[in-house]
Amino acid sequence: MIPFNFEYYKPATAREAVDLFHTLQTRDKNPMYYGGGTEIISFSRLYQLYPKAVIDIKGIPECNVLEFQNDRLVIGAAKTLTQLQESNLFPLLSWCAGRVADHTIRNKITLGGNICSRLPYREAVLALLVADCEVVIQRKGETRTEPLESIFNQSLHLDTGDLLLQVTVNKSHTCLPFFSTKRTANGDVNYPQDRIGYPVLSTAFMKNSGRIHAAFSGLCPFPFRSHELEEVLSDQEMATELKLAKAVSYLPAPILTDIDGTAAYREFVLRNTLARAVEQLEGVNCIC
Ligand SMILES: Cc1cc2nc3c(=O)[nH]c(=O)nc-3n(C[C@H](O)[C@H](O)[C@H](O)COP(=O)(O)OP(=O)(O)OC[C@H]3O[C@@H](n4cnc5c(N)ncnc54)[C@H](O)[C@@H]3O)c2cc1C
Repeated sequence: MIPFNFEYYKPATAREAVDLFHTLQTRDKNPMYYGGGTEIISFSRLYQLYPKAVIDIKGIPECNVLEFQNDRLVIGAAKTLTQLQESNLFPLLSWCAGRVADHTIRNKITLGGNICSRLPYREAVLALLVADCEVVIQRKGETRTEPLESIFNQSLHLDTGDLLLQVTVNKSHTCLPFFSTKRTANGDVNYPQDRIGYPVLSTAFMKNSGRIHAAFSGLCPFPFRSHELEEVLSDQEMATELKLAKAVSYLPAPILTDIDGTAAYREFVLRNTLARAVEQLEGVNCIC
């Protein structure tokens, strides 16, 4: 139970949602956009969040799209991880989304909620980062499209009141060869029941025009894609052992130690995963 009262709004348009956000803010309502609500509810129960108003985005048509439009796959921010997984329109995203939490929770968690989460994992974003996707953002008075990477640096940088409407992916990128893993404190990806939990290491690799793209969660205190590390992984001339040593030196922050695993264990898992990714993607060019 949430131990305080709050106002609930469900606008029918993106513009209405953003205008409402700013109006509620001037009334000191501390408004929040509401996707699946799992994070808002969990933190509100603990008084770590205290919204006096929530704006449910599930009535906004653009947030509910999941289809190819011309040469792009358009994914609304209110689509649940289960819907992404089951549609399988972008297999790497299905894979990354399908290992977040468990099935019951994935029926609620939305793509927008996962990307905008205050928790450090945001595993669905890995597939989006390596696929060079774009995000559509509703701001006060304008709708803007930007490359995800230009506003995702450790987390998604939105201005107050900005609403993530959609993510779009180049159609040809949805069927590029990929490799993806998740290891939790319980076990490995090969045993689905062991996957449930926050990641010790979660990865997404994609091969585009001979170059390996790579993104990681669970390794550092935030998810990231590293172009320097990709350069090393994609080098055909370099021996694997040297690749692994160099790749580890290109991480953007120290490796985490927490209750799920030490930094040394995470580095061990990382090295094994990188070696498998390079081996799997070598010589593979398209899965379409
Ligand atoms: C039991 C459990 C297990 C979990 N396991 C994992 C895991 O294994 N891996 C992982 O990556 N994550 C995991 N999570 C975290 C989960 O992905 C995030 O908490 C996510 O935010 C929940 O999505 P939601 O749609 O319910 O978000 P909400 O609770 O609706 O919102 C979360 C935040 O995002 C903001 N927001 C939502 N939609 C938008 C939008 N369109 N535009 C702007 N802001 C928006 C909200 O205002 C709020 O700040 C887990 C969560 C739970 C509850």
